[in-house]
Amino acid sequence: MYINPDKCVACGNCTYVCPMGAIYVDPTIKRAVVDRNECVECYACYNGLSQEHLNPTMVRTMRKIFQMMRLRFEPEPDVCPTAAFEPDKLEWPRVVRRAFSDPRVPHESTGVSGRGTEEVKTNDVSGRVKVGEVGFTIEFGRPGVGVWFSDIQKMSWAMAKAGVSFEKKNPVTSLMSDVSTGTLRDDILGEKVMSAILEIKTTVDRTEEIILLVREVEKQLDTVVSIGVGTRCDENGDENVVAPILERLGYKLERAKTNIGLGRVTNTPDESAKKEEPVPAMR
Ligand code: SF4
Ligand code: SF4
Repeated sequence: MYINPDKCVACGNCTYVCPMGAIYVDPTIKRAVVDRNECVECYACYNGLSQEHLNPTMVRTMRKIFQMMRLRFEPEPDVCPTAAFEPDKLEWPRVVRRAFSDPRVPHESTGVSGRGTEEVKTNDVSGRVKVGEVGFTIEFGRPGVGVWFSDIQKMSWAMAKAGVSFEKKNPVTSLMSDVSTGTLRDDILGEKVMSAILEIKTTVDRTEEIILLVREVEKQLDTVVSIGVGTRCDENGDENVVAPILERLGYKLERAKTNIGLGRVTNTPDESAKKEEPVPAMR
């Protein structure tokens, strides 16, 4: 994102709408500036503020006159009075920032907007997590924090070393140059995004081991990590294998997303998946 200094009148409205705190008013040039390193190209500033087309010279003059009279001329708080935002034309690899940070932009690899994955929400038709398996979503970053791909790679390396499998239809997986080692493409390691999700899967008996590993790796990362656990319930909608492990590890369980299982697995060609239908509920 770029702020045109010829247009900006340093009203400061945009500094409040940037979820990454990447916009600041530079007192030496008296203009708002975007810190390109911290900007994740979420477009919240460009889309979140109404753009008025007041003449910048006129606004600056008015503000000076008002100042002399010890009055303030401030535009409405949800407005950039001079339409100073000019989005950059994003090239590779910077364009991945927007793909992971602007919820209105669908990912090229999955066609899904936002972080680009349906996770286990559609497990009844995707069949990602089967009976006896547990799927993890390892989520990095948040507004105000963000995450560098170099940090995501530390986790993907550790997960690959532990022998788990990465979800193929996940945008982070699609950015790996070597899925067997969890290595991401070199050219994206210096890119920062608002948040991203790594999805892995293993057998239920490894639940505790993987959670402890995530906790261990998280200590080395300059971001926040949330972990989601998905597994299959039995035909009564109960789940008595993974839940006790999570409770023993200190998690208070809430059923976050439940798939009722009315769909048919449509995109898993292997026979074992077909035999599993109808699909039980998902926790
Ligand atoms: S809202 Fe517009 S005019 Fe005001 S500081 Fe930001 S870019 Fe400059
Ligand atoms: S695009 Fe997003 S991160 Fe970048 S300056 Fe605008 S609001 Fe901040």
